[in-house]
Amino acid sequence: MRRGVIFGHRDFEHILKAMKEKEDFAVMSGIKPTGEFHLGTLMTAREVIYFQQQGATAFYGIADVEAYEDNNISLEEGERIAVGNVADLLALGFDPKSGYIYRQSREERVKDLAIAFGRGVTLATMKAIYGDRHMGLYLSALIQAGDILLPQLEEFGGPKPTVVPVGVDQDPHLRLTRDIAFKFRGRYSFILPSSTYHKLIKGLDGSTKMSKRDPMSYFTLEEDPEVIGKKISDAFTGGRPTAEEQRRLGANPDICPIYDLYLFHFFEEDEDVIKLYNEECRGGRILCGECKNRLIKIVADFVKDHQRKRRRYIDKARDILETE
Ligand code: SF4
Repeated sequence: MRRGVIFGHRDFEHILKAMKEKEDFAVMSGIKPTGEFHLGTLMTAREVIYFQQQGATAFYGIADVEAYEDNNISLEEGERIAVGNVADLLALGFDPKSGYIYRQSREERVKDLAIAFGRGVTLATMKAIYGDRHMGLYLSALIQAGDILLPQLEEFGGPKPTVVPVGVDQDPHLRLTRDIAFKFRGRYSFILPSSTYHKLIKGLDGSTKMSKRDPMSYFTLEEDPEVIGKKISDAFTGGRPTAEEQRRLGANPDICPIYDLYLFHFFEEDEDVIKLYNEECRGGRILCGECKNRLIKIVADFVKDHQRKRRRYIDKARDILETE
């Protein structure tokens, strides 16, 4: 939030009040088990863990129904991928003692909520939000609304402020769920869920969003650090055509995915980000090769450490998901 990466919200006041007055509140997010953790899922996971550390009960849903409906990934394949995803989450610091990790396909309460919510949404609304898609996609949208409102059921302590940290492209889901929460408030006494919105990190090719269709535009936390290093080396930058020009005129961090990586994830201190933006990059004090090499080292240290921790959590992840 300080860096403007998380830049928007709906009803975040409820969460701030709960944090300040030490009242019950929840954070809810999850992952579609379609592949390894990448920088987008890392962002959401870090936000969930942050709110958990601020006192929230943390809910993390494995969206295996959505992965089946939207990406044609079987529930069995989704389960295999989810084990790794949960190990990632635990390695990043998620505390299962004050959290609840579940699979949509196994969580009856979420499915029951989706069935109840079906009465409150018309086909026209679904088409307006998601386009003309198959019924299963609309069903998974109702299940996702069930995920978001699950923390407010009596079994989890009843209605409470719940924050859902998402990328800005996810706002339509939030609006649908807030409409549903409003319609069903008589039956469940729901508080409308809050949300925070983060910017989307640029693709390594300079595109406005990483694309899973192009493996050179992103990297996962499971990749070999050397391969990641090569991808960073080959990445687009906001640099000038020659070293002389860059020293004289400075470069452009606003279009540079390398800058985004420092800003979103890999510089701990705000002062380092400010120095990179103003002095080093725009001031022409650093060349892009040097800037990339520094990042490659930071990312390699992080990824090696993360992969070591993640291996230790695989069995725990299997226990949590009750799988072999
Ligand atoms: S100096 Fe760094 S941040 Fe600036 S354009 Fe080059 S790679 Fe990007």
